[in-house]
Amino acid sequence: MDSKIKVGIIGGGQLGMMMLQEANFDIASYTVLESSADCPASPYCQKLIIGSLNDASAIEQLAEVSDVLTWEIEHINVDALIQLEAQGKKIIPKPSVLKMIQDKGAQKLFFQANNIPTAPFELVDSTMLAAVDFSKFPQNKIVVKTRTGGYDGKGVSICNKADVQNGKIPFEGSVLLEQFVEDVLELAVIVAVDQHGNKSSFPSIEMYFNSQSNLVEFLYSPAQISAEVEAKAREIAESVIHAFQSPGLFAVELFLTQTGEILVNEIAPRPHNSGHHTIEGCVTSQFAQLNRILLGQELGDTTLKQPSAMLNIVGPDSVMGAYKLENEYMWNQQTDVFIHMYGKTESRPNRKLGHVTVIAENFEKLIERAEFVKENMTIIPS
Ligand code: ADP
Repeated sequence: MDSKIKVGIIGGGQLGMMMLQEANFDIASYTVLESSADCPASPYCQKLIIGSLNDASAIEQLAEVSDVLTWEIEHINVDALIQLEAQGKKIIPKPSVLKMIQDKGAQKLFFQANNIPTAPFELVDSTMLAAVDFSKFPQNKIVVKTRTGGYDGKGVSICNKADVQNGKIPFEGSVLLEQFVEDVLELAVIVAVDQHGNKSSFPSIEMYFNSQSNLVEFLYSPAQISAEVEAKAREIAESVIHAFQSPGLFAVELFLTQTGEILVNEIAPRPHNSGHHTIEGCVTSQFAQLNRILLGQELGDTTLKQPSAMLNIVGPDSVMGAYKLENEYMWNQQTDVFIHMYGKTESRPNRKLGHVTVIAENFEKLIERAEFVKENMTIIPS
């Protein structure tokens, strides 16, 4: 009989792929559920189930062949997972945490109930604006977010306050209105919780978004913040994850304000773009850490070995269809540049095709080298 621990992953995108690249196949085997056979994770898993991530029966099929289930994407049938957990299936993180996170409104209410600092907000229906107390939004801008279904900035709109007051809201139905936090530095801390409740966080990172695509353009670790702010960021991140009372790997997105306040923006209950640099940058990567959690092992060392930067490789506007990375051979000869292509067959504008990690002995050299990579690494038609 096969004594390996059978892990089931819902979703076979790049996050699933990188989990599998860091898997310990001596002790575990992996089945992935994804809707298409040529997904990034497919070459690395033992078994692929083709099905919709929203289909309860496909998730049940995955559960039947798995000892432990996890996911690599939030937009899945969480009610099916809640039922499976009630029947005794081990699911990490707890599905109830995912259910709450799928609704940005419920997530904000959870922060509020647990005294987690977060930007002031109101949950409203777009037809009920008259009842809103707009004095909690002192800026002339308000951030409007859809409560469900958003990702990578889709479902987020920075609006003029007067427009919102007059009912001009870019989304239908129930929305989250949030105070616009000006000139923030965006930080993220990844927190891991093992099956015994032991906790560990990775050093914080500083991230910059592309204003058009809303994707992370650059990130650096360590974040250029004082030791005091670093300690506070990790303490807040760990305290919100503590409140979940769930094992798992979680990315906590934070805003550092001009006045030094740290606010929790939102949480991803899975590996995250803000942790890709950990593959080369840290002793244990975020992916290896999640595998350890799923297999019931102790958490690994999260120490940052050297300054690291990460840049996403995204499809340019000019390329639709088959593509390649220009001069890939030359880039692969570099000892401080690590390319991860996700094996997607076609490029589309702003599609995440891969990422690159840059390491350096000090922060100044890191920035210089990362800027060079950003300027010179190009996707071209093949
Ligand atoms: P998504 O879930 O799509 O990533 P976020 O809630 O993280 O959406 O918002 C996307 C981006 O919009 C953030 O990374 C940040 O740059 C900006 N943003 C979100 N909320 C605020 C806010 N309250 N104040 C200022 N900028 C914000």
